[in-house]
Amino acid sequence: MALISAESLERVKQAADIVEVVSAHTDLRRQGARWVGLCPFHEERTPSFSVDAQEKLYHCFGCGAGGDTIKFVEEKEGLGFAEAVELLADRYGVELEREREDPQAEARRQQRRRLGDLLDRTAAFYAAYLWESDEAAKAREYLAQRGLGEEVLQGFAVGFAPSAWDKVLLRGQRAGFKVEELRGVGLVQRGRGGGEYDRFRSRIMFPIRDRRARTLGFGGRAMRSDQGAKYVNTAETDFFHKSQMLYGIDLAKAAIAKAGRAVVVEGYTDVLALHQAGIEEAVGVMGTAITEEQVAALSGMVDEVVLALDADGAGQEAMLRAQRVAAGRKMRLRVAAMPAGEDPAEMMVAEGGAERFRRLLDGAVELTAFQIDLVLGRTDVGSPAERDGALAEVAPILAGMGESASRDELVRRVAERLDLEPAMVMGRVVAARPASGGPGGPSPDERRGAPAPRRSSGELTSRERRERALLAMCIALPDEGSEFLARLEEGHLSPLGARAATWLRKHPDDPASDLPRDDAELSGLIAELVIVAHDEPASPEAMELNFLLLEQRRIEAEIAAAGEQDDYEKRAALSRERAALVERIAHAERVRG
Ligand SMILES: [Zn+2]
Repeated sequence: MALISAESLERVKQAADIVEVVSAHTDLRRQGARWVGLCPFHEERTPSFSVDAQEKLYHCFGCGAGGDTIKFVEEKEGLGFAEAVELLADRYGVELEREREDPQAEARRQQRRRLGDLLDRTAAFYAAYLWESDEAAKAREYLAQRGLGEEVLQGFAVGFAPSAWDKVLLRGQRAGFKVEELRGVGLVQRGRGGGEYDRFRSRIMFPIRDRRARTLGFGGRAMRSDQGAKYVNTAETDFFHKSQMLYGIDLAKAAIAKAGRAVVVEGYTDVLALHQAGIEEAVGVMGTAITEEQVAALSGMVDEVVLALDADGAGQEAMLRAQRVAAGRKMRLRVAAMPAGEDPAEMMVAEGGAERFRRLLDGAVELTAFQIDLVLGRTDVGSPAERDGALAEVAPILAGMGESASRDELVRRVAERLDLEPAMVMGRVVAARPASGGPGGPSPDERRGAPAPRRSSGELTSRERRERALLAMCIALPDEGSEFLARLEEGHLSPLGARAATWLRKHPDDPASDLPRDDAELSGLIAELVIVAHDEPASPEAMELNFLLLEQRRIEAEIAAAGEQDDYEKRAALSRERAALVERIAHAERVRG
């Protein structure tokens, strides 16, 4: 992706109306200088979400989410930075210019676009072939039997791959694509004899598209019993990573945002049947378990995911990992237990099926509780060996939940059922805590630089509250601010506060005009500080008082350190310093009134 030029980035920021963008996700009303509403990132009843239309920033005082318009789109639509900029540019009619980049990267980007075009054309070819060719008659019949109408099939561009060995190969070559390119996107494969032939033949084709409706791969369902695998997917390519894809996401994303939840099912036809029945927040995982990557992709969009999968059959390890990622992102994973031997697609065809499915969704239970009941249900509690085995199985599930009331509840349930002391069960849970991943250690996802779980303002230490108040006033009163920023040292500040102070020293005039993209925590804090600066009273006296209180904390930390090193002389000197400081603080408090 070529870099978007700084000027066009600036034009996008100027053109985008943050109140309008946010209003698509929550109702905002004006309150003084800000717009306020219920936070679109966490559940709440009283509004703690603020938008500053002038500075084009948002911040939630409840969950700590915050940033500029681009950041909002990134988080809410689950897009990368460049994609979010493109979306806003589209919406506000800004033409994006790109920086010249090194020729190799430019060539790769062009090649990617070319191959994307090949995949889109091939999807269109398969779709036309389904409706027009004689040999697809059986496929049309099969889809109709499953109750799938033309409208939904066309919406998802369902198609049919001809039975010939080389139709796609020849079409592609005629259109100017090389065999290596056709192989690179997984449409053609090499046979044992070295010749190339179409990977998908005589199959119903389901194009797998990304959020922006670009075809990246295919799933193909066999139409004959002698065809080997019932389902064949595109092999892993540079384009296509099955574990990251959600089938139907391009058509489901609006409904997901609206419903505040995503419904995850296993197969292609399940997704189609649900959409046809009006349950448009459904997406498919193309397997029996949801992956960590899929959870991460959904976490930007919703707080809750309901799995209508065959959860008994899913690999427990995979579900545990998904659960850990979900817990780290404050997202709920619930399971709607499907009746044995019936998938959602079959249910939709049956009388009253959609209603029954909706009730299952409403009655969904937490994934962890579901898994634990599954283990307990198949344990013979009369056998000590089986009870031991069950405990070994549930301990990592409970450990992955992190400390919570619902975990305590489950621990009690396990103890009762296995006839053990709750404390003993808890001991095993603590011992089973993973060395990395899950609460207590970074998940793989966080290690890749995803935002750490945010903290609400209520969870801050008194020092953090003080430093934030002071830094906000440094923005509100820039002249005094530069003075205080010069006086602040590392010992006064938390690590994040120190980063914010450095940022403010470097960007004294307009701290929010170009938030640091590589540091989500810092850009969130800067957004918060600017919004607070706009709205809350500031005075040199209040700044002085906050500074002195931070100074007191710094000296107290030094006193403690001197004590640990048995340096009594230093400690005594510091204590005298503190006493003088306490008097100054008392004076400053009187001055401030
Ligand atoms: Zn919030």
